[in-house]
Amino acid sequence: MAEKFLSERNLKFLLYEVFDVTSLLEHPYYQGHDRETFDMIFETAMKIGRDIIKPCLEEMDQKPPEFVDGVVKVHPVIKTFLKECGEGGWISATASAELEGLQLPIMIGLIPKFIFGAANYSASVYISLSYGAAHLITSFGTSELISMFVPKIFAGQWQGTMALTEPQAGSSLSDITTSAELTSEGYYKMRGQKIFISAGDHDGVENVVHLVLARIKGAQPGVKGISLFVVPKKRIGENGEMLPNDVTVTGVYHKLGYRGSPITQLSFGENDNCHGYLVGKANKGLPYMFQMMNEARIDVGIGATAIASAAYYAALEYAKERTQGRRLGAKDPTLPQVCIIEHADVKRMLLSQRSIIEGSLSLIIQCAKYADLEIILKGEEKDKFRLLLDLLTPVAKSYPSEMGIISVSQALQCLGGYGYCDEFPLEQHYRDMRIHPIHEGTTGIHGITLLGRNIPYKDGKAFDLYLEEIRGVISTAQNIPALKPYALELKDALHRLEKVTSHLLTIAAEGNFELFLADATLYLELFGIITIGWQWLIQAVCIQSALESERSEAEVNFYRGKMYTFRYFFGYELPKINAISQRLLNSDGLTVEMQDIFFG
Ligand SMILES: Cc1cc2nc3c(=O)[nH]c(=O)nc-3n(C[C@H](O)[C@H](O)[C@H](O)COP(=O)(O)OP(=O)(O)OC[C@H]3O[C@@H](n4cnc5c(N)ncnc54)[C@H](O)[C@@H]3O)c2cc1C
Repeated sequence: MAEKFLSERNLKFLLYEVFDVTSLLEHPYYQGHDRETFDMIFETAMKIGRDIIKPCLEEMDQKPPEFVDGVVKVHPVIKTFLKECGEGGWISATASAELEGLQLPIMIGLIPKFIFGAANYSASVYISLSYGAAHLITSFGTSELISMFVPKIFAGQWQGTMALTEPQAGSSLSDITTSAELTSEGYYKMRGQKIFISAGDHDGVENVVHLVLARIKGAQPGVKGISLFVVPKKRIGENGEMLPNDVTVTGVYHKLGYRGSPITQLSFGENDNCHGYLVGKANKGLPYMFQMMNEARIDVGIGATAIASAAYYAALEYAKERTQGRRLGAKDPTLPQVCIIEHADVKRMLLSQRSIIEGSLSLIIQCAKYADLEIILKGEEKDKFRLLLDLLTPVAKSYPSEMGIISVSQALQCLGGYGYCDEFPLEQHYRDMRIHPIHEGTTGIHGITLLGRNIPYKDGKAFDLYLEEIRGVISTAQNIPALKPYALELKDALHRLEKVTSHLLTIAAEGNFELFLADATLYLELFGIITIGWQWLIQAVCIQSALESERSEAEVNFYRGKMYTFRYFFGYELPKINAISQRLLNSDGLTVEMQDIFFG
């Protein structure tokens, strides 16, 4: 198995040279940390990733969780990993010191997420879910709820989950029917079914804490009647004893990939004895849950990029060792065969993967920076970064998810026949990757969110801010001779995006919403490519400046490799927007008009 699963050098390049994470330390909220702390976090996360979870990657795939006598049994490493993460403060890394967290910048908090995701995606999910659930309770719950649940989740002793999906309510959460009935004792009696709940039960922890969306009896239909509840698997009795809380696992799904994490079907209140505790105000559940969903969406982007990274390094190692054929043009059959990395087409596939991975990671760190700035700034500036983060969340989720599949597919292709066989990890990475465009909202739903909600929101304020951010980098790059042509290409791409956006908004203004959103997924794709082009131009400015100073040979090679990858993105990926925008400008309503009876 390939030793390397990510580029530490690239992660540090992005964090320190491109996004200057240490600049956050000037702010009181992040004071007390320093570069040494960050580097130590990096090293420790690498050690946990490499030594604890990566060695179990294949075994967790081959021996997925089992549902035996009502108990979900997971790989024993999960217990060790959660304990390690609890004791090391990894689950609460970005939580405030007040909550006993490390109060690290979000930008630094993503280091362990990325490392763990690249080492073993299934394992990494347990702690992301736990943090998201705890953060939801700390943001909107009472101090009683916080003290009852959060310390145990942060310690890795209890698992957190998000329980939204029901058989009839997947993309359409407004159709949730799980019910909650207020009792005279102040808790709610919960009844209903949830499906596909990640880490919904397992023997690596003592308890599972579900953050459940449900409808209080008599609440209005639709999203305005949904509330949020904490529903533990075991509740704390009057004398501090742990009592079963009538949450039953009714099944565990068998999945294509990402098999090390159990996805469960849960039943609440089969014996009319399931206690739930309301979080925040009644009927505000969905807006609260958006915090966890949006964090989880960025986490999906991180996970997708991480798997693609592991696949890329496996492919790279193979391409450097596998000899096959000769350079095109070499006529002498007695010449030794060359390593496949010498073939232009293999280099193309490797560059394509790198451009997707390093572009996606850049966007994710950009989003994390916006999240940090939102935490530390106030007033208009705070609002600005919130708007930018909200606008970009569907993109940071969907681009790495969709393009990650292509990236892993190309990694697999680099191995030829061996890529398809389980002697090498590529076929597992390919299966593991496939979940990403589905969970935390399908790509189709994110397209509709971006175009239908985020773009028109506040008269296009977020979109204007986004354009402003990109124009800022274009104007810097235009003054660097080596980058000027690329800056002009991105400028042109931005014009196209504005033209398409205005065309589609006109359709919306005419009241034809179905036509307006019919190709929202294509709009998301267009937006994604341009966004990653922007991220590559930001990187190119740093690369150019680094190449101007004296550096070691290894460093020069790093920057030159990045420069080729940047050029690859602009040469091979960015031009795809021409075809997509052409289609988007031709709103002939083909998919709206097509009828179900015409499908053969
Ligand atoms: C491995 C895994 C883990 C999961 N983990 C969790 C979890 O921890 N917690 C949780 O609550 N849920 C979880 N889910 C559920 C997941 O979020 C849903 O599967 C997802 O939101 C899609 O819902 P659905 O499966 O019902 O598909 P549907 O909503 O039925 O969608 C089917 C297809 O129709 C499209 N579609 C649906 N509605 C529209 C529309 N209005 N316009 C255009 N296209 C539309 C979709 O894009 C999709 O292509 C998980 C799912 C999986 C597979």
